[in-house]
Amino acid sequence: MKNLRIAINGTGVAGPALAWWLKQYGLTPILFERAPALRTGGYIIDFWGVGYDIAERMGILGELQRKGYLIESLQLVDRRGQSVAILKTAALRSLLGNRFLSIARSDLAAILYRACDNVDTRFGTSITNVTEVSDGVLATLSNGREEKFDLVIGADGLHSEIRSLIFGPQEDCEQSLGAYVAAFTLSGYPVRNELTYMTHAVPKKMVARCSLRDDETLFMFTFHSDLVPELPQNNDEAKALLRAVFRDMEWEVPSILFRLDEAEDFYFDRVSQIHLDSWSQGRVALIGDAAGCVSLLAGEGTGLAIAEAYALAGELQAATGDYRLAFQNYEQKLKPFIKQKQKSALKMLPFFAPKNTYQLFLSRLVIRASSIPILSKFLMKDLLKDDIDLPDYSMIPVPRTQIE
Ligand SMILES: Cc1cc2nc3c(=O)[nH]c(=O)nc-3n(C[C@H](O)[C@H](O)[C@H](O)COP(=O)(O)OP(=O)(O)OC[C@H]3O[C@@H](n4cnc5c(N)ncnc54)[C@H](O)[C@@H]3O)c2cc1C
Repeated sequence: MKNLRIAINGTGVAGPALAWWLKQYGLTPILFERAPALRTGGYIIDFWGVGYDIAERMGILGELQRKGYLIESLQLVDRRGQSVAILKTAALRSLLGNRFLSIARSDLAAILYRACDNVDTRFGTSITNVTEVSDGVLATLSNGREEKFDLVIGADGLHSEIRSLIFGPQEDCEQSLGAYVAAFTLSGYPVRNELTYMTHAVPKKMVARCSLRDDETLFMFTFHSDLVPELPQNNDEAKALLRAVFRDMEWEVPSILFRLDEAEDFYFDRVSQIHLDSWSQGRVALIGDAAGCVSLLAGEGTGLAIAEAYALAGELQAATGDYRLAFQNYEQKLKPFIKQKQKSALKMLPFFAPKNTYQLFLSRLVIRASSIPILSKFLMKDLLKDDIDLPDYSMIPVPRTQIE
């Protein structure tokens, strides 16, 4: 097979995972990343399922376990900090055969990236335009240069630039789920509950806290979009919005907000899904959140991004570089599965931003019930089960005539 040069825009989770698998098949990935270096800090993610299995095949599971956390419980507290519901994760963990961990998204991304072993990476540079020519794609770079590749892959997340270039504006494919999320870490926060995800919710708002290593604490705020009069344009405006929306909330919220300006790696965005009719056009394809963001509600976006990377690289190898066939097979294998995940994720919205006291009450009930093994199986099966069986591409023989 011809040694394809494949540009990947975005060095988050999907990008490095794809680069790793392409390298296994002797192809040449080139990573682009808008940020000047790998992003640090940020939010913590749960990691299990098909992505976990692929990470094991990549030989990075040990490192993920070392950097990760085995969260033991999720605890809902009232405005005085009194526990109102506890979910012991043991029941869910056993449903998943103990193949479940939580890890900072940035640690997962860094582990994937390091595994790629000196892959050609252009930090501080994005692909800003793509023009298909007879034997490749001409990419215009943010530094003004032009470079030709065989294929270009958009792995640049929810607000993908590559997707906008080939499929038009984001609003045409974005389904806003009516909520916003902010996440950040603080150093030396005085209250700690090890291996416990603490949450306090009132109608339309939820705050969560999770103690991390090295005296760091992660905070996540989620809230209904009807509490947002005007969309913030930058982090300062987003912080001001957070202060205004959560002003009346009790528990530890006033002391967290008091320290908001010290927040490291402040993240703010709307909670959305991406629904596209197609994941590719010509020599350009999408993976990860760029293709089919499931949103934080699914709690599995990273694993799904890794699965997409695995399948896309595998299909390119199986089709011996026939990118049209590979893109078609990749999409056929993954899209119905991602659609199903998007659908089941929507059921989690009342937990992240309960609309009213009734939903708040229900989410407490679900949390309590999910600790009971038989009930957890019933309540969580749609969200947790990964009904997909991806091929072992290393076992697929490459036709001899096409190798030469
Ligand atoms: C608060 C929150 C909690 C979440 N919790 C979970 C969870 O528990 N479990 C889980 O599995 N998933 C979770 N997710 C979802 C998960 O983070 C995403 O699904 C996953 O990161 C998608 O990976 P990606 O590589 O497609 O995109 P990203 O991880 O977003 O990476 C995209 C990369 O592209 C770069 N980029 C963006 N634009 C450009 C450009 N124009 N040019 C070049 N580079 C660019 C970005 O800087 C970034 O490095 C959560 C998400 C949020 C917001």
